Amino acid sequence: MIVIMKQDATLEQINNVVEKLKRHGFGIHLSKGTERTVIGAIGDKSAIELETIQILPGVSEIVNIRKPYKLASREFKPEDSQIKILKDVFIGSKNPIFVIAGPCSIESRDQIFTIADDVKSAGAKGIRGGAFKPRTSPYSFQGMGEEGLKLLRSVKKKTGLPVVTEALDTRTVSLVAEYADIIQIGARNMQNFELLKEVGKLRKPVLLKRGMSATIEELLMSAEYIMSEGNNNVILCERGLRTISKYTRNTLDISAVPVIKKYSHLPVVIDPSHGTGNWEFVIPMAMAAVAAGCDGLIIEVHNRPEEALSDGPQSLKPDTFAELMKKIKRIANAIGREA
Ligand code: PEP
Ligand code: MN
Repeated sequence: MIVIMKQDATLEQINNVVEKLKRHGFGIHLSKGTERTVIGAIGDKSAIELETIQILPGVSEIVNIRKPYKLASREFKPEDSQIKILKDVFIGSKNPIFVIAGPCSIESRDQIFTIADDVKSAGAKGIRGGAFKPRTSPYSFQGMGEEGLKLLRSVKKKTGLPVVTEALDTRTVSLVAEYADIIQIGARNMQNFELLKEVGKLRKPVLLKRGMSATIEELLMSAEYIMSEGNNNVILCERGLRTISKYTRNTLDISAVPVIKKYSHLPVVIDPSHGTGNWEFVIPMAMAAVAAGCDGLIIEVHNRPEEALSDGPQSLKPDTFAELMKKIKRIANAIGREA
């Protein structure tokens, strides 16, 4: 449930309600908005007479959250969340569309530096690159590991772009967190609950990708795992579902944007690269995603896609990425946003 405090409630009154709820075993998540303070109380409601909370000074109303996800739900937080990536850089709400671009995998110093310069000059706001890769075959390139993370750090130093990179397991998550500005949890790990709890203990933004056959409710429950540990900085990512589709790698669920936005306040990013698996389809789907109201895009870009060690066929060349940026700017402007 959530306890909504009156607009003029004092700090003392808020603390009083929090203390009482804690004494009855509730976990507390305080959200101080500009309009009002909301106290999220997660726990067993039968442990307390709700009237004894309702009559406390400063309490406006008590709202029951019916959805199984609580902190991630719009009932809990009606206004869109914005998440801080760096000083003065935010994603979500009314902020410009946050475009993350870069190779699937970091392959060499030269490769990541060249691509980073190119995507930055085309207008990307973040650089992506996997150092630990979840590959279908154990014989495929598994990523450069910490060496790749170090390259990302130098790229950030040179370009100022925040870094998005994947944490594959609980063993290496703290290492990845030292280097990442946004920790990516991949589709295959969306329900790796131990990993979700670990990133939940951090305070860094997390890009949580939807599993390839996960429902939106399951995605929001995974976000809830992270948020229930205290990390509210969750960005949701739709990256395509496994379907009967033959001409695309996955079926990109653009409807996930308005659906998630109906039920959750969290920012939504679309990944048209994994969503289609073919570079030729990336620009139209990126435009559609922006038109549908997404908060960001994550795009695979490679300077030599034909030689890429992973996901070459879906990677844009830098000049095509620059074209994408121009086209999505026009779409964003048409719907009253910036990109
Ligand atoms: C990736 O971003 O390169 C990746 C492996 O994505 P996903 O987890 O969506 O397959
Ligand atoms: Mn990839």
